[in-house]
Amino acid sequence: MKQWIDILRQSHQISDEELIQLLTCTDADSIDYLHRQAQEVALSHFGYNIYIRGLIEISNCCRNDCYYCGIRKSNTNVDRYRLSREQILECCAQGYKLGFRTFVMQGGEDRVQNADWLIATVKEIRSNYPDCAITLSLGEMPREVYQQLFEVGANRYLLRHETYDEKHYNQLHPKEMSFDHRIVSLRTLKEIGFQTGTGIMVGSPGQTIAHIIKDIRFMEELQPQMIGIGPFIPHKDTPFAQAQAGSVELTLRLISIFRLMFPSTLIPSTTALASLSKDGRERGILAGANVVMPNLSPVDQRKNYSLYNNKAALGAESAEGLKLLSLQLEKIGYHISYDRGDFRLHTTI
Ligand code: SF4
Repeated sequence: MKQWIDILRQSHQISDEELIQLLTCTDADSIDYLHRQAQEVALSHFGYNIYIRGLIEISNCCRNDCYYCGIRKSNTNVDRYRLSREQILECCAQGYKLGFRTFVMQGGEDRVQNADWLIATVKEIRSNYPDCAITLSLGEMPREVYQQLFEVGANRYLLRHETYDEKHYNQLHPKEMSFDHRIVSLRTLKEIGFQTGTGIMVGSPGQTIAHIIKDIRFMEELQPQMIGIGPFIPHKDTPFAQAQAGSVELTLRLISIFRLMFPSTLIPSTTALASLSKDGRERGILAGANVVMPNLSPVDQRKNYSLYNNKAALGAESAEGLKLLSLQLEKIGYHISYDRGDFRLHTTI
């Protein structure tokens, strides 16, 4: 096993058979070795720096009905909200003061905060904060809209593909949603020039090791600049309310595999990981992640952006908890980087 891990580190390649062995391996020494190799690679590229991104959850209104999502349109228990442009700019102002140089606007696919509104909002953030990166995570949109958002100053876009198996995609999404459209959207974002992020939920209902291998092959082809993976966590008001949460261990293993395959890629230690395991964020970093995304959204709205049960949004997960985050990172030898942390292709191993 260690031999394959060494080869993966050097060549960034691994066969399907070896992947199956790695993903199902029960030998603790081998898994420790995998995590150590991934951490070394992350250190050689980013040092002990952890980039921070200020997350602004701009709306919990969505026209879609993804079966796993707590803010899906059929969930009538959600207190819906939309932040005004002024509120978003206020979040940016607070974040800037705290040292954030990336703002991530995340929300559902909303008809009210429509293309024109989003374009004007991005334009204003760009003109107020020329030195900051603007990341969007707002779902699927027509190519022209993506193009305009890019032209007015958005730099990065996060859109998880969730699964590269069409049948599995259809198990997770209603029939109005299209697997092909999701994949085309991702390719479009890359073509336009966005630093593009994709990813999966580990342990989503119906997911198999074969699906994960397909996901990995798709990412090899797409070459995303960011990879977001977190364990699936059920939400009580969804059709998957009774499903089991995904495995923290498998998530960590995948973070390490992705770090070895894509050494320069930005990989967050996700909120889902921190929500499921007390030291999940630290373990994600020790497995090769190099980004965290504290929450900059107005405190009174955070409970309404509940994608899954018991989502962490306070303490070190929050922007006002940067000191706590800093202390947690120090304990494992890392520190917050206030650099905007763009993707750069590094050539060292
Ligand atoms: S996952 Fe995204 S697109 Fe799907 S229902 Fe939730 S917010 Fe909407």
